[in-house]
Amino acid sequence: MTDEKNPFRTLAEPPRPPSLEPAKSEEDAIREELERGILFTSVEKVVNWARANAIWPLGFGLACCAIEMMAIVGPRFDISRFGAEVFRASPRQADLMIVAGRVSIKMAPVLRLLYDQMPDPKWVISMGACASCGGVFNNYAILQGVDKIVPVDVYVPGCPPRPEALIHGIMKLQEKILASRVELGPVPPKKKKSRKAVA
Ligand code: SF4
Repeated sequence: MTDEKNPFRTLAEPPRPPSLEPAKSEEDAIREELERGILFTSVEKVVNWARANAIWPLGFGLACCAIEMMAIVGPRFDISRFGAEVFRASPRQADLMIVAGRVSIKMAPVLRLLYDQMPDPKWVISMGACASCGGVFNNYAILQGVDKIVPVDVYVPGCPPRPEALIHGIMKLQEKILASRVELGPVPPKKKKSRKAVA
């Protein structure tokens, strides 16, 4: 509402007349309140969303790439924005292994043991040139690619990759997890126990 003499001046709104609508019943008022604060979804959708958005990485690093990996949990990069900041000290509680750095032949069986101790479903990110293909260390002491001992889901290139590159790799992994949806079918009916005829 504006003043006719000065169209740029806004006048205060006049008080509204009392509503002439009939008062809502208590049941309608409760239903309206519930619809405003409750989301309806399915268990399947929540499970699939949670698998991709609550990744728990295993907290271990092998070489210089691990320094860049550590940076992703700091305030500058803040991987908690993607739900993946809970680095676990035990493989039993982790579902993502980030292989950050070169893997020596001596370390390979230890890495495989840690992978085996992680519960399913689990994923692996190969971070950096050394983890992916041995990098500049083309010699007998370094494993020429961690995919020789564990299945790799995402490769992050670089020497070392920047923390942003690792975050990009985690986002790609989230896309992959979302694409492999868990389907929870209907609960099968319980079988009735058949009574054996007594001879
Ligand atoms: S890729 Fe580069 S930064 Fe990473 S472990 Fe190898 S030498 Fe170090």
